[in-house]
Amino acid sequence: MTRLAVGVDIGGTKVAAAVVTDDGTVVARATSPTPTQELGSGAVEDALVGVITELGAAHSVEAVGIGAAGLVADGRVLYCPHLPLRGEPVAQRVSQRVGLPVVLDNDANAAALGEARFGAAREAAVAVCVNLGTGIGGAVLAQGHLLRGANSLAGEFGHMTISPDGLPCECGRRGCWEQYASGRALERLVPGQRGAEITAAAGSGDVAAVSGLAEVGRWLGLGLANLVAAYDPDLIVVGGGVSDADVLLLDPARAALAQQLFASAWRPPVPVVRAVLGVDAGVVGAAALALGLG
Ligand SMILES: [Zn+2]
Repeated sequence: MTRLAVGVDIGGTKVAAAVVTDDGTVVARATSPTPTQELGSGAVEDALVGVITELGAAHSVEAVGIGAAGLVADGRVLYCPHLPLRGEPVAQRVSQRVGLPVVLDNDANAAALGEARFGAAREAAVAVCVNLGTGIGGAVLAQGHLLRGANSLAGEFGHMTISPDGLPCECGRRGCWEQYASGRALERLVPGQRGAEITAAAGSGDVAAVSGLAEVGRWLGLGLANLVAAYDPDLIVVGGGVSDADVLLLDPARAALAQQLFASAWRPPVPVVRAVLGVDAGVVGAAALALGLG
């Protein structure tokens, strides 16, 4: 019998939700705008309850999984620069209001789990997953399970320092990887256009757009070389909006990875592939967590 869960992805601009089966199929969707900082945590909870209630009314779901950017542990978002959540017990409060079990996790963890169960990382022994959106989300999968760290805070690759005196970051430090290899970095390199427009222009041969993506790809490859040195993965999965640029981003990244990786001549090459679940990775992975498939 097919089991159903609601998976929710709290993004910077919208709260995306879907009813997902236990084989990773999306059967219904709902969205709501992400409340702004000024509206506070209550507004975020109201938005979550709204989409979950809408989907739950039409489908027999057994649980809810929610992915949110930032540091997430024990059902709380401890810190996220883009959301008005600072330690509130979101999972518990939403669970009480919708009458279903609710699990809350980091959005990149959810996306990586989606790829592990239903996507690009199904066969990997150790997979490093990076999500290039506005910033960089990350996760490591070992034998299909998330490597969470002692405090459930592992995988914040976007804030690895890659240039100590480099560009300022929202986290208050300088030279974080996500300032160089993300959608924000791409928009800085190719001013006046949004990331999706830059990718479209690059596809039509626009020189500035191609060059911007190649620059982001080089920084991506440099960071990946560090991650390969640390984790020895057999697969790297790149997701998020910027990965839509495909080879225009990934080929420069692959070249930089090969060039920068410690002892690369004496180790097997690590494939760098695109995530296959696309924009659904977050909701599908969150639902998988809710169904106990983590
Ligand atoms: Zn940072």
